Amino acid sequence: MDTEDFRAHAHRLVDWMADYLAEIEARPVRAQVAPGEIAARLPSAPPEAGESIGAIMDDVSRIIMPGITHWQHPSFFAYFPANASPPSVLAEMLTATMAPICMLWQTSPAATELETQVMGWLRQLFGLPEDFVGVIQDTASTATLCALLTAREAASKFAINRRGFAAEDRLTVYCSSEAHSSVEKGVKIAGLGSASLRHIPVDAAFAMRADALDSAIREDQAAGRRPLCVVATLGTTSTSGFDPLEPIGAICRRHGIWLHVDAAWAGSALVAPEYRWMIAGVEQANSFVVNPHKWLLTNFDCTAHFVRDPDALVRTFEILPEYLKTKERDRVVDYRDWGIPLGRRFRALKLWFVIRYYGIEGLQAHIRDHVALASELGERIVATDDFELMVPPRLALLCFRYRPADIEDAGALDEVNQRLIETLNDSGALYLTQTRIGGTFAIRFAIGAQRTEARHVEEAWRRIEETARTLPR
Ligand code: PLP
Repeated sequence: MDTEDFRAHAHRLVDWMADYLAEIEARPVRAQVAPGEIAARLPSAPPEAGESIGAIMDDVSRIIMPGITHWQHPSFFAYFPANASPPSVLAEMLTATMAPICMLWQTSPAATELETQVMGWLRQLFGLPEDFVGVIQDTASTATLCALLTAREAASKFAINRRGFAAEDRLTVYCSSEAHSSVEKGVKIAGLGSASLRHIPVDAAFAMRADALDSAIREDQAAGRRPLCVVATLGTTSTSGFDPLEPIGAICRRHGIWLHVDAAWAGSALVAPEYRWMIAGVEQANSFVVNPHKWLLTNFDCTAHFVRDPDALVRTFEILPEYLKTKERDRVVDYRDWGIPLGRRFRALKLWFVIRYYGIEGLQAHIRDHVALASELGERIVATDDFELMVPPRLALLCFRYRPADIEDAGALDEVNQRLIETLNDSGALYLTQTRIGGTFAIRFAIGAQRTEARHVEEAWRRIEETARTLPR
């Protein structure tokens, strides 16, 4: 493809992208295809001769689009949001075109220096301590794994990296029973073994109980085990619980334990000072993660990973073959040593576009609007007799269930709610996901798509009520 062909195709694609966003509400939110349906429409072998972009785009419309779930749809209330704001998409187009691999300062000095700068901006935007230094990772799962590995190395004086695990097989990790599965995954990948992970019980607000954490740590110490790391969550995935950093941090300090904070979703709300209650005590944390790719208008992937001691992070991952040595390496940051992969995308560019385009005020308004919508919905649910609010809105997530007076059996209630969510999602009008709270089936409602307005939440609630009451019994 020569440059002029590229220009023509790119113009057409940008039109396609703008039309997609303009007309997104006409699409079903969750893909309405059956397993295997898309694969059945794809040829089983690659084409012998090259094909035109026109032919490929025809198949995008015909084959691919029916199998897309529209995360940017204003009636997307499932999982957590994955904002792809237009300025961030524009930046991503530049990144995809230049396609620099940002592993060393020398392989794109602007990428490195912009990353340092925007992570400094983000630290200020979030009101995090001044001695936190940031790096962009691909996902929160990766950042949490990096934190566990750094904690492991710091605790073993960097011996496990050299000698493997033989001498240190009794390290333990703690998180709440509501923590994200990425903690267990990280524990497994870090070689600590999932049996070393303690799930600490939560209180009525789904926050880790500091007293139970302290007891679990003491029990492990008494049994000759070595507590390594506590992962505290701000904004648990199912229940929007906020682990109290002050008492947890004090416990970690007392026992010499690494404190990692997972604020993957809720951390974006820190742009508005009224939500900074959640970081009281954060000065005791060793590392902290927020996903701008969830709720801060920056398209996937972009995870902000802050650490207090970058040297420990770098010592954990550092490896220096001859071909990666550069003459200025003692004077610059080489982000290849700040995480797992060598090759790194230029993610700082989209964050820079987003922060500059929206400014602090725009980012705050985005978060505040969603929090207000969730709070209004919470009030409505409380005022509706045949529904039960199971997790009141904190920030923009809440959980509820349909609970008509004539169904008392717990299993029957779970079943009717399961059918309710399936019917709603099959309608294509909105998309919700479920969870279990203390074993009870609940419907999660997470507000956060950039295009979601009051009318979308109102319409979603109208449909939920109507569908619940007309479900065949
Ligand atoms: N932590 C929490 C609290 C989450 O809710 C999620 C995802 O929803 C993650 C971590 C994992 O995020 P990622 O997909 O960036 O690994």
